[in-house]
Amino acid sequence: MVQVNYMTSNEIRESFLKFFESKGHKITPSASLVPSDPSILLTIAGMVPFKPIFLGQVKSSLIRATTSQKCIRTNDIENVGKTARHHTFFEMLGNFSFGDYFKEDAIKWAWEFFTEVIGFPEEKLWVSIFKDDDESHDIWHNLIGLPEKRIVRLGEEDNFWKVGPTGPCGPCSEIYIDLGEEKASKEGGGVGVDGDRYLELWNLVFMQYNREEDGSLTPLPKQNIDTGLGLERIASVLQNAETDFETDLFLPIIKYVAQNAGIKYKEDKQKDLALKVIADHIRALVFMISDGIVPSNEGRGYVLRMLLRRAFRYGKVINYNQPFLYEVAPVVINLMKEVYPEIYKEENRIYQVILTEEKRFQETLNIGIQILDNIVEGLKQKSKDKLSGRDAFKLYDTYGFPFELTRDILEEDGFGIEEDDFKNEMKIQKERSRKSWVKTKMSGKDDKINQKLYQDILKDKGETEFTGYDFLEAKSKVIAITKEDKLVDEAKAGDKCKIFLEKTPFYAEKGGQIGDKGVIVSPSKNNLLIEILDTQTPTEGLITHIAEISKGNIKVDDEVLARVDLSRRKAIARNHTATHLLHRVLRDVLGNHVKQSGSAVNNHHLRFDFNHFAPLTIDELEKIENLVNEKILDELKVETKISTFDKAKEMGAMALFGEKYGEQVRVVKIGEFSLELCGGTHLNSTSNIGLFKILNEEGIGSGIRRIEAVSGESAFKYIKEKENIINEVSDKLQTIPSEIPLKINLLIEDAKNMKREIITIRHKLAHYEVGRLISKKKEIKGINIISVKVKAADNNDLRNWGDLIKDKIKSGIVVLGTELDNGKVALLVMVTNDLVQKGYNAGNIIKAIVPIVGGNGGGKKTMAQAGGTRIDKLEQALEKVYEIV
Ligand code: ATP
Ligand code: MG
Repeated sequence: MVQVNYMTSNEIRESFLKFFESKGHKITPSASLVPSDPSILLTIAGMVPFKPIFLGQVKSSLIRATTSQKCIRTNDIENVGKTARHHTFFEMLGNFSFGDYFKEDAIKWAWEFFTEVIGFPEEKLWVSIFKDDDESHDIWHNLIGLPEKRIVRLGEEDNFWKVGPTGPCGPCSEIYIDLGEEKASKEGGGVGVDGDRYLELWNLVFMQYNREEDGSLTPLPKQNIDTGLGLERIASVLQNAETDFETDLFLPIIKYVAQNAGIKYKEDKQKDLALKVIADHIRALVFMISDGIVPSNEGRGYVLRMLLRRAFRYGKVINYNQPFLYEVAPVVINLMKEVYPEIYKEENRIYQVILTEEKRFQETLNIGIQILDNIVEGLKQKSKDKLSGRDAFKLYDTYGFPFELTRDILEEDGFGIEEDDFKNEMKIQKERSRKSWVKTKMSGKDDKINQKLYQDILKDKGETEFTGYDFLEAKSKVIAITKEDKLVDEAKAGDKCKIFLEKTPFYAEKGGQIGDKGVIVSPSKNNLLIEILDTQTPTEGLITHIAEISKGNIKVDDEVLARVDLSRRKAIARNHTATHLLHRVLRDVLGNHVKQSGSAVNNHHLRFDFNHFAPLTIDELEKIENLVNEKILDELKVETKISTFDKAKEMGAMALFGEKYGEQVRVVKIGEFSLELCGGTHLNSTSNIGLFKILNEEGIGSGIRRIEAVSGESAFKYIKEKENIINEVSDKLQTIPSEIPLKINLLIEDAKNMKREIITIRHKLAHYEVGRLISKKKEIKGINIISVKVKAADNNDLRNWGDLIKDKIKSGIVVLGTELDNGKVALLVMVTNDLVQKGYNAGNIIKAIVPIVGGNGGGKKTMAQAGGTRIDKLEQALEKVYEIV
């Protein structure tokens, strides 16, 4: 045990942030668990939201920041509840320097915080450093005075941080606390090995180098500091808790669950594990859902679903057989709401999402478990120790068993899974259901090759000035031209090229809004015409015009006139402003949980994706459409202004795609109705939208809905088209439009009557036909065989024919074939009972002949039916019967 003064987790968090504030850091609220960087699934560390600043992708006035960041890690999931220190959701305290202070201050302050603020006994603290990082060694040893023996050098695996094979990287130094002999694990070992005795608390990352293509390290122009200190772990030390689970962050949850289950914590190892896992996962669920994640079979939604189902299954271990997690959510919310108010705001939805998903899984869990039990029996019998990936996949696909869950259950019986196999099955399914909705911006590969080219242009010529918010025309100098991805000095008629201007009114595709089209001409003469087909941002700050030269030629340094296609731009603006109205209205009609998860706006239509748990009703859709049109008629003024992110958020602006720490943001305000961060181009007044019409609403993945709509001219066209269809129909029906439904009902009634009549007539006809068919009977070995083609409407009709013939001949084999209306073949075989006893079998006969018509099927001994596709082979199949018998 380490001698310390007790601190609550709130006190620890608070004192950490305050301490670094006193060292000039800006306390920045935790970013969402959904990173703004689309390439990262979830926020796994405090540095994630700052990644663009670290990598120099955005400009920011932040120099020093400190956060308590919500994190999710799934790579530690197997350890949860088994080790004292691993969680899926945890809070990472961190301090960050963006090109400001470096190693010495980072180490000094970490030491000061631990020994002076928190009061850890110095002699219990150990550190690890990267084996070649003598600089860190000297700071720890000479400056801090840490004895040589408590500074451990570790290899690249443990103490060298990187984002990828190239790019920023650097050594780390970790701080451990020695929890004493009694915690030592059986295997023993020291810092970096025995995680039970030497508990890793804090990782200090020194972003020092850039790894070049050739593998060499060059010092970064701006060196950064990124640190991460696990709150749950430090709380466990300061609260003298045996593991993290006995701290004030977990114990209230565990106690609540145990009490409801009628058990006591610390009486049964198996049950304790279940309690720990449930307490861990419910925290993750609450925070993930409040950040807008909904259960699905992919990406973040899958992680959420997996955690929920895993927790639900552990519920069975402590005798829960019905939904219970939703009742635990409020405990978590109460515990954490002061620090993270967003979870409180989303309370109802969190509750609803969890309950819905629990109910959904409850239905399949028991069947799945039974099936898994059978599979395990089978494995035992065959003395196998691993479940095939295919079986695991089936459990996943049919019964909603996440891989991790199947693994847990099997592990309890000492079995494993063919993991690679499973992944392969998943991959195949993904390909199948791949439905890409995000227009892929230029080819990714192309982008990478050209990045250097664009970076060079940017470095040489600076950023493109965008003037298109206020102007649709601009005189500008040509600063670069590229053709086939190479810089050229000029381009002439017939050439396809990319043109870079000093300034441009052309909007480059961004934030879901399509790029502008238009022309580039000469400001004075009539000898140049360049068509601009698209506008893009190949790298932050640079705008490229994708061009085709129709007339004349263009050189670098030429003065040109860039002119945006006005009516197209206007149509885009109508859809974009309409999208903002729609977003706001959706929140009003469906609830504040609605968050944009994607949008696309062009001159033809708009598309808006958002999270919502159920399909919209016709009433809701009508209400939404009406409200948007109301706001159009209200002639609301659309204004934009530049503000800071914090201010915009304070004003209640709807921010999308998680937070960004880029300093300046643009806010689009529509009357007093809508406020949104947005860089797009808009109308001046909503009245210009004219008309808003929803075309379609659908689900595009669990919990995500999509609305497609049109506005302005497209909306008018859409209505006109519908009107034309109605006119055409009423013409055909020889009635006025308002009478169409009535007329159609009459027609349907008529058709039904006719069908009934046809069936009766067919039946009558059949009686006459039967005689003729029986005359075609052949006798082989004393058995009556009738194998003929008939005209039947469907399988039922065919069976009627069969019954009629069988009744007449008393004993025999009847084989009938027919061509159905859909161009397919249906076959029927009937064998009378006396012949069945002699060993004839309708099922076998059909199996022998149906392949001839390209089908398969079977049936009972007395009657069998099957279908095929080859009409041309029907006769042949019927002939074959005689041979078989
Ligand atoms: P470990 O080796 O113990 O898994 P790590 O090396 O993966 O830790 P880092 O990636 O360096 O940890 O993260 C910084 C800090 O965040 C750690 O020192 C620890 O305090 C905390 N941390 C990391 N992973 C978890 C987790 N799964 N649960 C709780 N805290 C964690
Ligand atoms: Mg780890």
